[in-house]
Amino acid sequence: MSKLLLKNISKIYTFDHGENRYSETDITIQDGVIRGIGANLLVEPGTEVIDCTGLVALPGFVNTHHHLYQTLFRGIEEVQEKPLFPWLIGLYEFWKHMTPETVNYGAMVGFSELLKTGCTLTSDHHYVFPNGQPGTLIDTQIQSAKEIGIRFHATRGSMSLGKDQGGLPPMSVVQSESVILEDSQRLIDRYHDRNDYAMTRIALAPCSPFSVTESLMLETSKLARANKVMLHTHLAETMDEERFCLEKYGRKPLELMEDLEWVGPDVWFAHGIFFDDDEIKRLNGSGIAHCPSSNMKLNSAFGYE
Ligand SMILES: [Zn+2]
Repeated sequence: MSKLLLKNISKIYTFDHGENRYSETDITIQDGVIRGIGANLLVEPGTEVIDCTGLVALPGFVNTHHHLYQTLFRGIEEVQEKPLFPWLIGLYEFWKHMTPETVNYGAMVGFSELLKTGCTLTSDHHYVFPNGQPGTLIDTQIQSAKEIGIRFHATRGSMSLGKDQGGLPPMSVVQSESVILEDSQRLIDRYHDRNDYAMTRIALAPCSPFSVTESLMLETSKLARANKVMLHTHLAETMDEERFCLEKYGRKPLELMEDLEWVGPDVWFAHGIFFDDDEIKRLNGSGIAHCPSSNMKLNSAFGYE
């Protein structure tokens, strides 16, 4: 059993419901769980003690949307100053060469950056599974998370609508619906920990309306609800996406999600910057992961009038 005493912390900001704050206070931690907060706490011999005089303690930050592998694809000249669709089309040509080693290094860089800036729980949305590579890239990420010690909610991302079927990604990075659904169930069975303080959980995350089929969205939502795991996808990120949905499906992105039973408290969407007032009311408890730096980098208001 690991025991830790954080001694004489100058300020503790709990952000609990009572907004409680403490000064010159100790925290005891056992097996990763806070056991006590108070002044001059007594601890057993063998407890590791860290002197926190002059330091501030905050709860760990939670990151609700990330693409860890993309830490290795920053600054690619071909896609600078391009909006989302051409940015993606340019990068798929690099991403299609990804290996498990790439995924491991991308995860380690991303996790390190997150931990160093106060994040202790991160999700990740990994949806690129290049043809010819092992289908265990999520397993690789989970091993990387365990190695570095971050709490990790992996999502089983997916793309099933390739260029030949009217989608955006090249065929070399899309998978069949049956492979995706089988692997989703495998990952839930193997890794999803429902206990309190779980270090690993799984959610299911088809990538976006322009890279997955309607039937995959529907089957994924059924699978997630049968297993009581959460659902995640990109939505309402750009006007290009809205135009794509109107042209291909005859509906705006949120209407499409409503018809596919993809709205509710067990769903969280990434971006969500183009919902109108009525749509915001219809989110029905769905969460939104806002990503303003991404939106600014990609000029995602481009085409908005
Ligand atoms: Zn994203």
